[in-house]
Amino acid sequence: MLAKDYYECVVCGRKFPVGQGIVLSKGGYTLHFHSSKCASKFLKLLLERLDEGCASPALKEVLEELSKVRASRVKEKKI
Ligand SMILES: [Zn+2]
Repeated sequence: MLAKDYYECVVCGRKFPVGQGIVLSKGGYTLHFHSSKCASKFLKLLLERLDEGCASPALKEVLEELSKVRASRVKEKKI
């Protein structure tokens, strides 16, 4: 397999095949994570650095969205 068929994890540097791991793009950056553990580590570091004014609205939106998903799952179980 050619070298371009591999991504490099931005956290630990491990190389992994395209199609595996987690790939996220935002703000002109494409982030590659070989595992959810590395993605979690990056998320923690990112949140520590994010400005509150920037982070709070996005956090609120995501928490509300996930709350709705949890509520609909509970409804499905009851039916
Ligand atoms: Zn990694």
